[in-house]
Amino acid sequence: MKGYILIKKELCKECQLCVHFCPKGHIMPSKEYNAQGYHPVCVDETKECNGCAICATMCPEVAIEVYRE
Ligand code: SF4
Ligand code: SF4
Repeated sequence: MKGYILIKKELCKECQLCVHFCPKGHIMPSKEYNAQGYHPVCVDETKECNGCAICATMCPEVAIEVYRE
């Protein structure tokens, strides 16, 4: 199964639960800032997303949407 995610960067509070729980290593920290002063996570394009939705389930801010292809 393949998928992709959309990260709503303005909702992210940098807890990094998604980074730690993604089984594919597809999410990583970023150096940019959002309007709240957090570093939102971003996708690592070198790693594939399998659409498992663990990241979206873990995210306390509901900042990740998962789509399956
Ligand atoms: S789990 Fe949600 S709030 Fe936490 S770093 Fe990931 S996207 Fe941001
Ligand atoms: S859907 Fe699964 S594989 Fe894709 S980024 Fe989220 S946790 Fe990682």
